[in-house]
Amino acid sequence: MAIEIVSYPDAAEGPIPVGEEKLFSERFACPVSGFQLTEIEPRLFSFNSPFGACPVCEGLGIEKYFDPERIISNHKLSLKEGAISVWQHMPSHKLDQMLSNLAQHYQFSVHTPLMDLPQKVQDVLLYGSGEELIPMRYSDGVRMQDKANAFEGALPYLEKQWRLAASTGMREELEKYQSKRPCRSCQGYRLKQEALCVKLADLHIGEVSHLSITQALHWFEQLPTTLTPTQQKIAERILKEIQDRLKFLTNVGLDYLTLARESGTLSGGESQRIRLASQIGSGLSGVLYVLDEPSIGLHQSDNRRLITTLQHLRDLGNTVIVVEHDEETMLTADYLIDMGLGAGVHGGTVIAQGTPTEVMQTPMSITGQYLSGAKKIHIPKQRRTGHVGKAIELKGATANNLQNVDITIPLGTFTCVTGVSGGGKSSLIIHTLYKAAMQKLEGTKTSPGPYASLRGLEYIDKIIEIDQSPIGRTPRSNPATYTGAFTPIRDWFVELPESKLRGYKPGRFSFNVKGGRCEICQGDGLLKIEMHFLPDVYVVCDECKGQRYNRETLEIKYKDKSIADVLSMTVEEALPFFDKMPPIRDKLKALMEVGLGYIEIGQSATTLSGGEAQRVKLAKELSKRSTGRTLYILDEPTTGLHSEDISKLLVVLQRLVELGNTVLVIEHNMDVIKTADYIIDIGPGGGDRGGRLVGAGTPEQVAKTEESVTGEFLARYLAS
Ligand SMILES: [Zn+2]
Ligand SMILES: [Zn+2]
Repeated sequence: MAIEIVSYPDAAEGPIPVGEEKLFSERFACPVSGFQLTEIEPRLFSFNSPFGACPVCEGLGIEKYFDPERIISNHKLSLKEGAISVWQHMPSHKLDQMLSNLAQHYQFSVHTPLMDLPQKVQDVLLYGSGEELIPMRYSDGVRMQDKANAFEGALPYLEKQWRLAASTGMREELEKYQSKRPCRSCQGYRLKQEALCVKLADLHIGEVSHLSITQALHWFEQLPTTLTPTQQKIAERILKEIQDRLKFLTNVGLDYLTLARESGTLSGGESQRIRLASQIGSGLSGVLYVLDEPSIGLHQSDNRRLITTLQHLRDLGNTVIVVEHDEETMLTADYLIDMGLGAGVHGGTVIAQGTPTEVMQTPMSITGQYLSGAKKIHIPKQRRTGHVGKAIELKGATANNLQNVDITIPLGTFTCVTGVSGGGKSSLIIHTLYKAAMQKLEGTKTSPGPYASLRGLEYIDKIIEIDQSPIGRTPRSNPATYTGAFTPIRDWFVELPESKLRGYKPGRFSFNVKGGRCEICQGDGLLKIEMHFLPDVYVVCDECKGQRYNRETLEIKYKDKSIADVLSMTVEEALPFFDKMPPIRDKLKALMEVGLGYIEIGQSATTLSGGEAQRVKLAKELSKRSTGRTLYILDEPTTGLHSEDISKLLVVLQRLVELGNTVLVIEHNMDVIKTADYIIDIGPGGGDRGGRLVGAGTPEQVAKTEESVTGEFLARYLAS
């Protein structure tokens, strides 16, 4: 039965007179507006449930909109050159007439770069002319037609297309012009208004989950003071459970994350540590835990807490196995197993095992030698000061947690950006500096984080980010194709007498075109099996047995090796093989220098680790003719690297600097930081406790900076 809601007299009017009949609501309803809350139960607070999710964004917390920044392909282009590519589907003569009609009316030239057009014109192009009618003259070559129309503008045009779009293909095409922003109905909190009405100590659940873990812990700890004694009694248990979990997350070094952080945006190390925190909470014993490099992305200061957590798990009666390169973790271990000797074909045997001391006493073990200090990464005798008077200055950066940060990067140096996780390093370097520089140098469509000014770009000719993303998405990409070694290899095979006799052209040895490749797998050597709801699976092609070429192509041999044999050589094997061929040799040499001698030159991109992909990219840069005016940016290049490999990587980075370039590295590894010419330390803490420039200067100077956590550790490394 529906309950009728009636308004009742204002409390000020006193009690309801006896004898009069009144109806009251048994629900949480407003007698004035009729707004009604459903039963308050857990599912109301879940954005995964239709009972709780914001109906506008369906619980995603974001909405898509057409973004002017995406609509403009390049501010430096003119309209004629296609600065706004939205109208590309229009017949070109119609588009030309439309633009020249506009140019006529507003008195501008279609050949002027978009950024130089008056603001009023730019606004009309994007948002339309509104009420203003514009005389339009169209001709189809035979007849002329004159009309006065309001001009629609690119954004309204796209919105109309979006409403009319029938196919998903069409929508995908339009999505190119969209960006995301917080949903305006739920302000990004993902829940419906009813859920957000329920508040505890003035905060609703969305606000609580947007607190950082540190703030949330503090909030839950002081919450009881706002409760009545009865409420305190009821809340006691649940509050303890919540606080315990927040403490576990703090102990694994994740105090800077917000509870609402989307799992997809977490780094591998972060998600691993979250799973670890949930395990501590379970209090199980007799479990075997296996962790793969949990220290990735952790500042030295948080590493200690992580190790304590692992020891705690052990003390509960569990066994913890950790695959790790971190020195401190290794030294704390009860038992070490050192695998090697080298990587790839040079590995696969146990070199040493026992307590850390026993491993240190094994001369064969490279790990042991680094642990004992017999081998170490040396501190350079002198720090470079860079090119006199040349520096890049970024001022007033405010992206994410950055608090108006000003930095100076001396050019011609090896500069490290340091600080605890979540301190703001990536926001500053990748999201602001890199994107802003790309926009200014290359005219790339990016939306950099907000900043006040950026100076000094005239001293560099390009900026290159060398990240750990794959060198290609398909098995057809490999180190040989990526570094450009494959073209001269193919040419070499074409020049062989047998190829000439048969009239083979370079395409014969390509796996991108028909002719010489295996057609069953189209040169992949692998067949892709698409799995529903699971990642694709690759199996070796039956026809060519993974060799990628057909029989005729494989008959062409140089020194008894077919092109498939060459592609399956390791870099080390291929180097003497192509010793007399500089174009091939130089590329292979660069791969050797970055410590990738063990990978196969035709190894498919999909099987290279992030660290390997990054080093292949470095090798490509090394083998290019350097202009000496490049700024290289690397985000934690030591991830997954052994000390021995780090020392090789440093040699490569230092060489780029020797050539006059600037190398800017975001890094936690102290062995790298201590070798820098210049350090920019961001922090001091994570999240809202970070975002400031804590110190800048040589490692020696930063080590003396009182507030710097990095400096504190650095002082120890410099002393040893
Ligand atoms: Zn919403
Ligand atoms: Zn095949």
